[in-house]
Amino acid sequence: VEDIDNVKPEYVKSFEFDSKLMLLTWIVVRIDGCHFHRFSDLHEFVKPNDERALNLMNSCAMSVLKEFPHDIVFAYGVSDEYSFILKKTTDLFQRRASKIVSTIVSFFTSTYVMRWKDFFSQSELKYPPSFDGRAVCYPSIEILRDYLSWRQVDCHINNQYNSCFWKLVASGKRKREAQQSLKGAQLQKKIEELAIDYNSLPAMFRQGSSVFWEKMDNVLTCNKQNGKSSESCGRVIVEHCDIIGSGFWLEHPSILEE
Ligand code: ATP
Ligand code: ATP
Ligand code: MG
Ligand code: MG
Ligand code: MG
Ligand code: MG
Ligand code: MG
Repeated sequence: VEDIDNVKPEYVKSFEFDSKLMLLTWIVVRIDGCHFHRFSDLHEFVKPNDERALNLMNSCAMSVLKEFPHDIVFAYGVSDEYSFILKKTTDLFQRRASKIVSTIVSFFTSTYVMRWKDFFSQSELKYPPSFDGRAVCYPSIEILRDYLSWRQVDCHINNQYNSCFWKLVASGKRKREAQQSLKGAQLQKKIEELAIDYNSLPAMFRQGSSVFWEKMDNVLTCNKQNGKSSESCGRVIVEHCDIIGSGFWLEHPSILEE
């Protein structure tokens, strides 16, 4: 290498600005599949809800929790998105936003690709999927819960809409006609009109997926020790339940404890 002395690391480094995520706030990292409308078409996802695709997403989210057992306390997923909640006191990457987001999103994506064949044994992955990611800080449990409620309401409304849409398409309507007839419609009424047995749809479709550490007696020891192994933290589980009401949070008080 020529002129090695002319390279000034401090000077070059001085252009870097790390944005740090505010202290003592819950960090939410939300990732979302890029162009999954097309990805799901090309890979022939069952519409409106492909169970294999959702199970693959859930499996990747579980691995993310195990990868960051001391930092991520909860995750909520629906469709091609997942929200990961980092606890208020986390010091992961000294709370540097780009490090946190990029590591989670790349770990999730590579896991998705590695496990694809476990969930889609009959169809090959046709191109490398990507996910985007962002981090948002929430300063109180109330606002964090409002965030999660917003995602679950979105899941509900989208699922109602998609159930009606695909029922209309199945009954012979063109996609455009189906879209027209649902414009501004009261979805609850439409569901009745179309005789959709909404409540007997799988809970995973209606309520999305919540991923968290199963409460065990040794959870406290897990949080206190700094070992890398996630084994000591118990098991990661997935449930499909209402996270808008207080019931879930009263049953699992340790998830958001400070
Ligand atoms: P963007 O890149 O802006 O996120 P997108 O095409 O991914 O664009 P989204 O709003 O994220 O748009 O919606 C994801 C789309 O992926 C859904 O509308 C749906 O068509 C499809 N999709 C995702 N998961 C599933 C699934 N499990 N079953 C069927 N379709 C799915
Ligand atoms: P961090 O997570 O902080 O980035 P790191 O272990 O990845 O930690 P880096 O400073 O990024 O540390 O250095 C990457 C290391 O990976 C190198 O020090 C080297 O040991 C190894 N490495 C990367 N690419 C190669 C390669 N092509 N051949 C041999 N070793 C490599
Ligand atoms: Mg997006
Ligand atoms: Mg998307
Ligand atoms: Mg999406
Ligand atoms: Mg390096
Ligand atoms: Mg490195």
